[in-house]
Amino acid sequence: MKNKTLLKVILILFILLNISFINHKDFKIATISGNKYGMVIKNGSEKEKVVALTFDDGPHPKYTNQILDILNKYDAKATFFVLGKFAETYPKIVQRQWKEGHEIGNHTYSHININKTSREKLQEEYEKTQNIIYSLTKREPRVFRPPYGSFDEKAMDIVEKNNSIIVLWSAHQDSKDWSNPEIDKIVNTTLSNIKNGDIILFHDYVYYDKSHTVEALNRILPELKNRGYKFVTVSQLIDLSLE
Ligand SMILES: [Zn+2]
Repeated sequence: MKNKTLLKVILILFILLNISFINHKDFKIATISGNKYGMVIKNGSEKEKVVALTFDDGPHPKYTNQILDILNKYDAKATFFVLGKFAETYPKIVQRQWKEGHEIGNHTYSHININKTSREKLQEEYEKTQNIIYSLTKREPRVFRPPYGSFDEKAMDIVEKNNSIIVLWSAHQDSKDWSNPEIDKIVNTTLSNIKNGDIILFHDYVYYDKSHTVEALNRILPELKNRGYKFVTVSQLIDLSLE
């Protein structure tokens, strides 16, 4: 009897959780408290052969420029989720990203864990970073990536009020490159699972003497290009998916 009740509770929870994510034009839209909040995106539509490369935690004084060179070489547009504190330290790199047609997203000022942060502190980190990016590009970011991919209702509130969108990544496209795994591993994670509409997670800021991400990109980009993929920004991916 006890087991049956437990099973029922689990089943109801399972159903409720599924209902809270409704499919709309191929995205998952979170509907905490009934469709009150904005979009949370993990991937775009599979209709077109496009993927969104995303880079977190930068700008890095050395690796971000190397990544920008590679992106240029393969005519790829990407999205950089920058930290406010590094955008402040390396403003010229953010301006280069913007000038070269990439999208700049907000990744908080100092990489806070939202679940352990007060609403006031989150608001401050979010706005400070929006303002720094605006001062460099004259455009407020439309996309926000919560550090560690963890967020809650207060984050959704703030993002919605700013007409912004929470951007996560495709579950099978986490290269874990922040831990500098072997180059082969990063390349294989991306290439073996690639699907139309993927949002691929990389890090341009790594705390190592050599970035394996940079090396891996030199192999990933030509291969994906050969396979016919186009590299778009997250906002372009969203717009394509809404068409
Ligand atoms: Zn991060």
